[in-house]
Amino acid sequence: MPVPPPAVLGYAEESEPAYVQRVADHFTLRPYGKGLLLACGPCPRCAAPLEIPVVLTTVRLMWRAPARTGPLEVPMACNCHEDHDPRPDGVTEGCGAFWLLGVPAELA
Ligand SMILES: [Zn+2]
Ligand SMILES: [Zn+2]
Repeated sequence: MPVPPPAVLGYAEESEPAYVQRVADHFTLRPYGKGLLLACGPCPRCAAPLEIPVVLTTVRLMWRAPARTGPLEVPMACNCHEDHDPRPDGVTEGCGAFWLLGVPAELA
């Protein structure tokens, strides 16, 4: 289980190898309208419950890339609406965490 975050977590653009494992353990993917999947689960950094749309056209393009090996991984970032100050100019959501989410071929 993720460790509970401190009460106030500052904004930081960062990724850690542990995020990928946490997201793989706790996120679920489900169909979400036309051409979209919805990735749902707790942010691996700030633990906010997230719902992040995954665009399937992007996923399919990545599957077709000739150089691709291993499971498909889609980049995504936290989009929570908590207070994580100071955010950079123009950034209105998220804690700065980003990671890769594995997408099984049968969902793509
Ligand atoms: Zn957050
Ligand atoms: Zn977050």
